[in-house]
Amino acid sequence: MKKNGRTLLEDLKLIKRGMKEFGTFLPGQLRLLFIYSAITMAIPYIGIYMTSIVINELSSQRRIWVLTASVSAAVILTFILTLVSAFMNKRISVGYSQLFSAHEIRLNEKANAMKYSLLEDEKIRELRDEVSGNINCSGAGMGSLYWDCESIFKALLSGVISILLLASHAGIEGTTVSFSGTLFGFANSVWGYLALIIIIIISAAVSSKMTSRIFDISFDVFKNGAKYNRYANYYKLEYLSDDKSAQDVRLYSQKNLIRNEVLDKCYIPFAEGDKREKDASSKNNGIMLLLSALVGGAVYILVGAKAMNGSIGLGNVLLIYSAVTLLIKALTDFVMTFTDLRNNNEHLIRYFDYISLEEESESSAKDTSDAGRAAEVRVDHVSFKYLGSKNYALKNVSLSIDNGQKIAIVGANGSGKTTLVKLICGLYDAAEGTIRINDTIVSAKNRSGCGKWLSVVFQDFSLLALSIGKNVSASQEYDQSKVWDSLEKVGIKEKILKYPKRLEQSLYKDYDDEGVDLSGGEAQKIAIARSIYKDAALFILDEPTAALDPFAEYEIFTKMNEISQDKTTIFISHRLYSCKFCDKVIVMDGGEIVQAGTHDELVHIAGKYSEMWNAQARHYVKDDI
Ligand code: ADP
Repeated sequence: MKKNGRTLLEDLKLIKRGMKEFGTFLPGQLRLLFIYSAITMAIPYIGIYMTSIVINELSSQRRIWVLTASVSAAVILTFILTLVSAFMNKRISVGYSQLFSAHEIRLNEKANAMKYSLLEDEKIRELRDEVSGNINCSGAGMGSLYWDCESIFKALLSGVISILLLASHAGIEGTTVSFSGTLFGFANSVWGYLALIIIIIISAAVSSKMTSRIFDISFDVFKNGAKYNRYANYYKLEYLSDDKSAQDVRLYSQKNLIRNEVLDKCYIPFAEGDKREKDASSKNNGIMLLLSALVGGAVYILVGAKAMNGSIGLGNVLLIYSAVTLLIKALTDFVMTFTDLRNNNEHLIRYFDYISLEEESESSAKDTSDAGRAAEVRVDHVSFKYLGSKNYALKNVSLSIDNGQKIAIVGANGSGKTTLVKLICGLYDAAEGTIRINDTIVSAKNRSGCGKWLSVVFQDFSLLALSIGKNVSASQEYDQSKVWDSLEKVGIKEKILKYPKRLEQSLYKDYDDEGVDLSGGEAQKIAIARSIYKDAALFILDEPTAALDPFAEYEIFTKMNEISQDKTTIFISHRLYSCKFCDKVIVMDGGEIVQAGTHDELVHIAGKYSEMWNAQARHYVKDDI
């Protein structure tokens, strides 16, 4: 029987896989949940069992010691189990809350471990949003699995206990095959039992069907919950709470546009779905109440008749009635929860899709052994296309950088400079050709082998909302004098010395109200200091100074030239003036290397470089050329 396109066996395997994964978030928590379920499920049965003993005894021998012993045993047992369950309940609820952070940490770790190119894939970003949104807005996925495990275990256990109680107390001995036509006779014959079994099965089947329909409807509603959440968050967090967007909202009178978009895409469909679910639920509840009254009546008549003709004790009327009611509930809960588990598999599949995305090999960016040693780069006939792009971003690029050499890569926007350095860093895999650093092949899968040789500053670098010291060192523990030294080299030490907490000063206000905001240029200086602190053999600076004015850029490039004296260095800059001190200049155009040579060679021959130089030369004083 397929549901959501999966067979029962496939669903069972997924549930098992989900439970195993759950164990990696919160080890032992499911076991605790099962013990808790068994205890809470057993408590009502103690009361029922004890009451039946008391009534039986009162309607027969009325022995005081039996009455006292059964009441005391029931009270003590109920007290102990209630106490234990209350204690466990706290851990069960805390476990559920912890699940959310454990789940988010797991997704974040995955995002850190996966191949960089996957992070840029829009579909994968959407998948991540969906997986996070599912659990955060409705507990779907691992959250539902948690509670469903509890419910299904309780239902199974309760069903077994009810059947055992019925089998041992329903007065099977003395049952006749035929009956005389009276109700008493019918109740005492196998037909009475058959009628009871049929009532249980029909009632459980009807209520299960109805409740699982509700679960299907709510699943349908909540399936879209993550999407609604995304829209709502986009407008609330990214659009309305952002001061830059707030300017546009006011200047272009976008208020109504936004309100209607949010209403149409989010609140109205959500409210409609919610209403559909509530309508179905209330109809369902009415029918269920009627059904339970009818079933209750029929069971009472049957069991009452058996009691009247003496085939069961009075006390057992209550016991059998309760056992039948609980058995119907157990069957209904089982089917309902199982429906939910199968629906929930839709969410688990998305989770596992994300968790199974291809990863880089274990990153050893912190492995600094021989990091500072020589770095030679060999790019050999490399071609590359971005995911989903028809055009080559790099076409048959070959390049050799000897140890200690400084090269500049120049070219118009979109000519492939950043792509080339990203491939050298192992962020993407070349479609054709190979890249080697110190004879080690660089690939997205094997980025760890080369990360230690790289000190990189990209144009789109990012700093963390943590202290300056942690940002520069990329570590919680750091060498203060080395951090100060790095900051001094980029010319921002004086500024940091003025901050009250100096290296402990937080950047930005995300985690610290006293965090400082930096200008674009200051942030770039800190990013460059971070690369200096790492002190690897190969420096790559991809327009790291774009936010600086030409003088500050020249100053930094000159300093970088000093800092990277013995290091292999790749500079990418729009300002060709900065290329003058490089050993070699590589000119790129349309993903290819179109010229290579020293500044002095290239500037005097017709070609891209001299064109660019002449276009920029008017900004430089004559003596500089
Ligand atoms: P440059 O650094 O010289 O400005 P890039 O290497 O950034 O050039 O870009 C080279 C080409 O690859 C351009 O056509 C650009 O549009 C494309 N490109 C860059 N990044 C991506 C990306 N993440 N996905 C798809 N195409 C990209």
